[in-house]
Amino acid sequence: MTQLNIPDTRGYYGPFGGAYIPEMLYPNVEELKENYLKILDSAEFKEEFDQLLKDYVGRPTPLFYARNLSQMAGAKVYLKREDLCHTGAHKLNNVVGQALMAKILGKKRIIAETGAGQHGVATATVCALLRLPCTVFMGSKDMARQKPNVMRMHMLGAEVIPVESGSKSLKDATNEAIRHWINHPDDTHYIIGSTIGPHPYPDLVARLQSVISAEIREQLLQKEGTENPDYVIACAGGGSNAAGAFFHFIGNGKTRLIGVEAAGEGANTEKTAATIAKGTPGIIHGCKTLLMQTSDGQVQEAHSISAGLDYPGIGPMHAFLHDSKLATFLPVTDTEAMEGVQELTRAEGIIPALETAHAIAALHKINFKPEDIVVISLSGRGDKDLETYQNYFTQP
Ligand SMILES: *Cc1c(COP(=O)(O)O)cnc(C)c1O
Repeated sequence: MTQLNIPDTRGYYGPFGGAYIPEMLYPNVEELKENYLKILDSAEFKEEFDQLLKDYVGRPTPLFYARNLSQMAGAKVYLKREDLCHTGAHKLNNVVGQALMAKILGKKRIIAETGAGQHGVATATVCALLRLPCTVFMGSKDMARQKPNVMRMHMLGAEVIPVESGSKSLKDATNEAIRHWINHPDDTHYIIGSTIGPHPYPDLVARLQSVISAEIREQLLQKEGTENPDYVIACAGGGSNAAGAFFHFIGNGKTRLIGVEAAGEGANTEKTAATIAKGTPGIIHGCKTLLMQTSDGQVQEAHSISAGLDYPGIGPMHAFLHDSKLATFLPVTDTEAMEGVQELTRAEGIIPALETAHAIAALHKINFKPEDIVVISLSGRGDKDLETYQNYFTQP
């Protein structure tokens, strides 16, 4: 990352990134941009962040040698167990960091957007811990289909605001959160849930998640005598678990970085979320990146069976990694992901999140050598997806 000098001081990863924001939002984003690197580097921040990652989130997460999966894949497969983090996924790494940063900046309340509710729950969790009032914007359609997460957020003391505009889902919730932030510039921090949004968010979130690859390096050195695996595989919605798992390996000349996109019913169909395969350059939620859009530049609705990957854009860092061939992106369909769920569950006794199952399924799309060391970012656990699994696997 840093050896490649990305992003530059204006937040560009090659042609992607930047901060395409309304003038009214400029002071908020500027304040963050001026301060984030200083804060991340301060002893005050580091001490508390490290302590909470250890004692609250449950880090370091294990790097597990998956014997049975290895046999099936024909390589040495390790699982980085982000599913064991508090609240069941990698998302808390980012939220803990941003909430601490908000406190240091003197902010008094937190807002967030959420799609399936996972980022909303993570945010509400940390806000309860740090005694920060929390408002979460969520599409009304998502609220109806993700009731347990709405319930969790309420229990944690967060206010959940239903968004009725557009497709009543994630991108509309994001628009509404941005609108709210414009009207509350002084006392509010907006915690974005992935490596998306205007600069400095993609870089901020990538750095906060980079603890994943920092730990992989140390753990792999102990287990295999090398810091650098041959492959790192991670699913990518907005791209945060992939960014964290890739971070310390980008451009090292050895590790092949594989991002896995949700192809939905197929990358060549209309019902897909394969942004890298189908997207074209455009602007979404404050940054220039690849996104799925109609010929007149309207954002096209994404489809994936997995709510966490159902996003029409991808982080600008990933668009750049693809463009510069520093990473490869593979599409995996709904059906293949479901096979991945069953495969990991039966092989290793771990029920993965539906997002994560896309990364498992990608094992079948790569020709490994037997001595290859492969690390999969096991981004989350499957508890939240049981209803989907039940409906799918009990079909006649
Ligand atoms: C939210 C989520 C994702 C997708 O988000 P990224 O920012 O692309 O990592 C992937 N896996 C799990 C388990 C999630 O909860």
